[in-house]
Amino acid sequence: WKNAPAHFRALLTASRRHGERVFLRYEDERVTFEDHFRRAAALAGRLAGEYGVAKGDRVAIAMRNYPEWVVAFSAILAAGAVAVPLNAWWTRRELAFGLADSGTAVLIADGERARLMAGADVRIIVTRPDGSPPPGAAVLADLIGEPTAEVALPEVDLTPDDPATIFYTSGTTGRPKGALGSQRNLGQAPLTVGYSLSRGAAMRGHDPRRAGRRRVTLLTVPLFHVTGCFGTMLSAMFGGTTVVLMYKWDAGQALRLIERERITGVTGTPTNAWQLMAHPGFGDHDVASLGTLFYGGAPAPPRLLTRIRDRLPGRAPSNVYGMTETSALIIDNGGGAYSDRPDSVGRPVPVVDVRIIAPGGANARPGEVGELCVRGAPVVGGYWNRPEATAESFAGGWFRTGDLARVGEDGLVYIVDRVKDMVIRGGENVYCAEVEAALFEHPAVRDAAVIGVPHDELGEEVGAVIRTAPGAPLAAGDLTGFLRGRIAPFKIPAHYWFRQGELPRNPGGKIVKDLLRREVLGAT
Ligand code: ATP
Ligand code: MG
Repeated sequence: WKNAPAHFRALLTASRRHGERVFLRYEDERVTFEDHFRRAAALAGRLAGEYGVAKGDRVAIAMRNYPEWVVAFSAILAAGAVAVPLNAWWTRRELAFGLADSGTAVLIADGERARLMAGADVRIIVTRPDGSPPPGAAVLADLIGEPTAEVALPEVDLTPDDPATIFYTSGTTGRPKGALGSQRNLGQAPLTVGYSLSRGAAMRGHDPRRAGRRRVTLLTVPLFHVTGCFGTMLSAMFGGTTVVLMYKWDAGQALRLIERERITGVTGTPTNAWQLMAHPGFGDHDVASLGTLFYGGAPAPPRLLTRIRDRLPGRAPSNVYGMTETSALIIDNGGGAYSDRPDSVGRPVPVVDVRIIAPGGANARPGEVGELCVRGAPVVGGYWNRPEATAESFAGGWFRTGDLARVGEDGLVYIVDRVKDMVIRGGENVYCAEVEAALFEHPAVRDAAVIGVPHDELGEEVGAVIRTAPGAPLAAGDLTGFLRGRIAPFKIPAHYWFRQGELPRNPGGKIVKDLLRREVLGAT
């Protein structure tokens, strides 16, 4: 293995061939591929030098979507260390959990997060200090100066099986778990995304490179989730694509950027795509450059596809499925298959095997619902420091996703619900996602979340929290009438809570049902 290129260092070195092309774009800043390489290599040298970071050590990142996030990530991996991207929305307490859980010694943070973590037992490197840096913190720009073309990556011996990343899961179903990814998992990610891009017919008539133009992607989601980091940034580094970063998601701002930067593709959650299509200013912008829309990470209501077809006829949307533990997408639905079956997440990418385990433990028959299990090159080996959770989810070479799904005769995968979300009403399974999709068809429903409500006789009753469109008041009776004929009577919610404000969603676009349950049902 002595001379074998470990995946990420090879990828980073190869990215240099894109030279003076713009890799990262943030407000008026531009970082070329060459700039990025030099800064990453210089920082890697400092980490390996005065910070004493050695192979396998954990180095965390706590930053909004700044270009320095990517520099930090590349530097940590180039030094042979394990990158630990922390959620930039976390509080001091949550960040402290991430640092302690991962056993991190060095933290690379933006000014806001560096101030939040001042006094913590960790060495801090700060970027955009926005005033004087916290005591003891080094400023990233001072540390690396203006690196020249001669800057080289520090020496380190790595194999494809060495650990590379610890990404925390979104914490939708409980405390976030650190998914421990290898160099191999990371090297697979851009290939999987590239495959998906070309298969989804996304490229059919929509490959800007055919018209002699470059791909420019708008990143709408945080880099600290795999969709942002692996699904977008890494594949862009590999393919020479420009990534336009936003401090914070804002549909109006996104439309301005699409026009100004001639964005060719948008990657994000179904919520991002929905808000983009629904924005009142949509018609005022020139969005002709936009060819592909990739969304995943949460269920995409079939109505979203209709919305996109109305707004952007002839474009290529894809609904993709993946999770932190699978290093971004592993199943995707695009092109004609998506038009035919907008309720499906499509087919697994070729390097991934899929299996559905029926309640009894046997393989499910076609159409039968069971737990979706996956294996293959992008799937991580386990959770950092969580032997029990690892044993539970990764036994026997298959990863149990915690999602209920079925595979139809057509070979397409349908996500039914999360195992933990399902409501069991008097012994009947009610899949929240199915009820939510039916609710979404009502024009006055802006957002919907279905939850189980404790019930003495039935165990659980179905409840729904609805965000209504402004000026369109809804009553329980309206929705009950609407749902009759769409779904079976036992699935129709018995309780409704209406509100005009947003439902609590995490940065991945997922409704935090635990929080919602507590909000509407009180502490139980
Ligand atoms: P935690 O595991 O900590 O509870 P999480 O599962 O929400 O959080 P992620 O890894 O960010 O953390 O999300 C993966 C989950 O998102 C999947 O297991 C699935 O439930 C959901 N998901 C992802 N893509 C899709 C999709 N296209 N359609 C439906 N659900 C999706
Ligand atoms: Mg999960």
